[in-house]
Amino acid sequence: MLPDLETLLIVQDRDLRILALRKDIANMPRMIEVAKTRLNGDQAAVAKAKEAFQANEVLVKRLELDIQTRRNTLQRLRTQQFETKKNEEYQALGHEVERYLGDIGRLEDEELVFMEKSEQLKAALTAAEAGLRRTQELVDAELKQLEERRRNNEAQIAELESERRTFTAKVEPTLLAIYDRLVKAKQGSALVALSAGQCKGCHMKVTTSTILKAKTDQEITHCENCGRILYFDD
Ligand SMILES: [Zn+2]
Repeated sequence: MLPDLETLLIVQDRDLRILALRKDIANMPRMIEVAKTRLNGDQAAVAKAKEAFQANEVLVKRLELDIQTRRNTLQRLRTQQFETKKNEEYQALGHEVERYLGDIGRLEDEELVFMEKSEQLKAALTAAEAGLRRTQELVDAELKQLEERRRNNEAQIAELESERRTFTAKVEPTLLAIYDRLVKAKQGSALVALSAGQCKGCHMKVTTSTILKAKTDQEITHCENCGRILYFDD
């Protein structure tokens, strides 16, 4: 094999690794999005639990207000009853007092039911929040791993690029330019084996003269189908 091609094979090995690492980095925003969508379900569960708890709290508060209003009225009725001199009015006020006491009792029973429900809803909300926190921790860990992977990839790319420079310095500039163009165009291998009469880049049969040219190993041979640089390998 021509010495330049041997060197280019090493360059290509670095280039393919750099390409794979860059592809992985390019994929990361999508992976970050996927990781974050894992929170959606838990966030919705917390919002729903919070809404149910708050709606119930509103009912408890409303009942408390109703009870307080009736207690105030009750207080007023008792004062009136205490102050009246008329027996008939005293009796009537007594009935009113009874009626209000009954109302307050019923409302307090009702409030108790809602207060118990509030406790259950509060517990459900706390559980949903804990679930969200657990998922958040997992997602945070995943995001941290992705960030480490990105940094690691970049460090590897820098190292491979430095190695690449050492080898490209040894390659004839015109050939290197051709190689660079091909790598870019093919987004992969630019230098491929010619084996059993077939180009290993495009998997097409090449002509006999191309096989002979590659076999003679005197000058750079291209695949007439895909243009990749060929090295004879049989
Ligand atoms: Zn080809």
